[in-house]
Amino acid sequence: MNINVAQECPQCGAATTLTESDRLLTCSFCGVKNFLQPAGIFRYLLPPTIEEEDTSYLLIPYIRFKGTVFLVTDKGLSHKVVDTTQLAVNVPGLPPSLGVRAQAMQLQHLDPATHAQFLIRTLEPKAILHKAAQISHLTAKAGKNLFHRAYIGETLSVIYLPLIQTEHGLLDAVNRHSLSADTSTRLKNKALKSTSFHPQWQPSFLASLCPHCGAELEGASDSLVVHCFVCDRCWKMDEKGLQEVRFQVVDDSVRAGLYLPFWKLEASIPVLNISSFADFIACTNQPMLPHPDWKKKPMQFLVPAFKLRPKVFIQAGRQATLGQWKLPEGKGKKRTDFFPVTLSLSEGRQAIKIILAASAASPKRIFPHLPKVRAVVKGAGLVYLSFNDQGHDWVQPHTGVAIGKNILRFGRQM
Ligand SMILES: [Zn+2]
Ligand SMILES: [Zn+2]
Repeated sequence: MNINVAQECPQCGAATTLTESDRLLTCSFCGVKNFLQPAGIFRYLLPPTIEEEDTSYLLIPYIRFKGTVFLVTDKGLSHKVVDTTQLAVNVPGLPPSLGVRAQAMQLQHLDPATHAQFLIRTLEPKAILHKAAQISHLTAKAGKNLFHRAYIGETLSVIYLPLIQTEHGLLDAVNRHSLSADTSTRLKNKALKSTSFHPQWQPSFLASLCPHCGAELEGASDSLVVHCFVCDRCWKMDEKGLQEVRFQVVDDSVRAGLYLPFWKLEASIPVLNISSFADFIACTNQPMLPHPDWKKKPMQFLVPAFKLRPKVFIQAGRQATLGQWKLPEGKGKKRTDFFPVTLSLSEGRQAIKIILAASAASPKRIFPHLPKVRAVVKGAGLVYLSFNDQGHDWVQPHTGVAIGKNILRFGRQM
């Protein structure tokens, strides 16, 4: 489930609401489009319901992760969708999780004007994700030998819970429950470090204009990649601003109903001696004879660049990667509606090992090597594959990748 965040238009100040996955803000009042540019991790505040003048809040950090945990063990590949908001400091007595509060309320960006002290987190996101994986009982069901674990998801953010000192003691400033005397004492411990607001925590805004030609950029509000249909370039947003992304469009003879984006990652895996597509076919023990020219074809991983349920994500990535030899060369770029990119390039890179594991026809030959596998990515770009409408499914004609229409809709809300 998405959380909602109050947002002001940087141009005219009109109030609007964004979801945590929205990056492109189109003001319904003045019509100006702006990108929300993260400054590292996004930080939000659970809005206090108690406001007292001259009182400063103590803000408690929680790590929010929404995504999929993948595990590769001797029993195979398992996965679980995780949506969690966990306490990021070691102070017993504080709510261990924000539960549904983060989803039920409209969150705010941090306001530099608020008098507040921010408790510095003592638990790193990795430790919290590890705990979340255990909570999900994924580890219990999986086998004994863990070969690889990956967290793939778009959302990793910090949500602060405000506490306030009143005459009745320390209170949760949202639900007004008082904290135990023990917890209050622990929070006064000098060993716990806190800080005031850092200006660099504030996300900034970037005009949605093409850095190459100055035309207005187009994209859905939750798209991480936007297109300029004037100079036919495509851009991704990251902390450094807008970066150009190479892209291609693969068409079919019939008019496509939809173009779905895949990250095309040219990568070698030295530990397994994979550098060409022929190496990959041999190494993963595919029941097919490699064509002689596959030795000259550099290995490419095709990873869905949009959110999908884990099972469908793995299937689509595996099938597109194994079927890449059937795809015609990407040609001229079409000015058409592209499905939004909602899975970032860095998440796509993390999926390489999962796609490799999923492609292994003889897992015993691949899985034990996974801890040592380092993919060397030599080139990255996007490829939009044409999909045809076949009733309940969208089907890619060359590779046979099929994605249910309801699954695609659901992925936008993941
Ligand atoms: Zn506006
Ligand atoms: Zn342009």
